[in-house]
Amino acid sequence: MKIFRIQLMIAVLFLGAFSIQAQDFKDGKYAKEKAVEGYSLDHSYDVKKISEYKGKQTHAKNIILLIGDGMGSSHVFAGITANKGNTYFQQFLNIGYSKTQSANKYTTDSAAGGTAISAGVKTNNGSIGVDAEGKAVKTILEIAEENGKSTGLVATSSITHATPASFIAHQASRKMYDEIAEDFLKTDIEVFIGGGMMNFSKRKDGKDLISELEKKGYKIADNLKDAMDFKGDKLAALIYDKHPEGIDKRGEMLVPATDKSIEILNKNKKGFFLMVEGSQIDWAAHGNNTEQLIGELADFDRAIGEALKFAEKDGNTLVIVTADHETGGFAVKNGDNNGSVKGEFTSKGHTATMVPVFAYGPGAEDFRGIYENTELFYKMVEAFGFKK
Ligand code: MG
Ligand code: ZN
Repeated sequence: MKIFRIQLMIAVLFLGAFSIQAQDFKDGKYAKEKAVEGYSLDHSYDVKKISEYKGKQTHAKNIILLIGDGMGSSHVFAGITANKGNTYFQQFLNIGYSKTQSANKYTTDSAAGGTAISAGVKTNNGSIGVDAEGKAVKTILEIAEENGKSTGLVATSSITHATPASFIAHQASRKMYDEIAEDFLKTDIEVFIGGGMMNFSKRKDGKDLISELEKKGYKIADNLKDAMDFKGDKLAALIYDKHPEGIDKRGEMLVPATDKSIEILNKNKKGFFLMVEGSQIDWAAHGNNTEQLIGELADFDRAIGEALKFAEKDGNTLVIVTADHETGGFAVKNGDNNGSVKGEFTSKGHTATMVPVFAYGPGAEDFRGIYENTELFYKMVEAFGFKK
């Protein structure tokens, strides 16, 4: 009896302490602290509650893979803090970590990091869609095409840049932008939206890849409005000569590009594979620019929201969010409840740390745990129900 009373007392004290803490937070104890001098978003955004995936099937008809280039866990938390604690990131229940080491470097670049995810092989830094011996390796985009699915790539960089390139091209070096552009014509990709017009139209070899794309049935759009007005089946939207600008200047691009791609790809009854990249999270971190970083994170999170809203309605779509590596050795040193983020960086380059993986939909449970980045490819192949 005495023991029971002590236990009860401990329990009451414990609960009391917990409720005081919870109360403090709710009453804005932290908000009442002196506001933290940091960076905040110009506009916070609404986040729709996505209902939990309750379906029974383990195979997915569609996969939407969203890659935040250079996006580590602290970058995600900066995004959460900046939107005052509410983001699409927090709606995922299946969360894991990917280890990003490449074949020849403990700290990867986006080419080897992208190829690990797209094709399941560890390759050397700088290599695009080839293994460490330089041999071309089949990507998830190509496998999806072979199986009759539609495919798409969206990026806030040039579409020939390392991350999107690693899904569609096979080149020894990420710098071979013109050669990477030519590889787009060797596939049956349905939609691509990003920058990089010059690698198709103003090439060193003088070839006119734009008319080649037109011959293959693509509508070419050199601006976002034309891309958004498109109603057909094959779209090549090269809306900047080289790279799109940073979030403060380019404005709304990633969200409508994601929506338009889903609209085009979803016409295929056999399903689709779409990769969407928040390319400039990496560049903001290279620049140690917290202000751009939270802007790019908000932009990327809203694109995740579009993918999740589609997946919730569709019921046959697996949404995966991850990164190729971490950039900046970033920390959220402080912040407050009003969306202020005080960031600090330990590097101007990439770091070796593992990066988060978030998954929603059929097969999402498979993405839990800590594993090599190459596993992401095999997990996607498995989720599609393809033979390895
Ligand atoms: Mg990239
Ligand atoms: Zn980088």
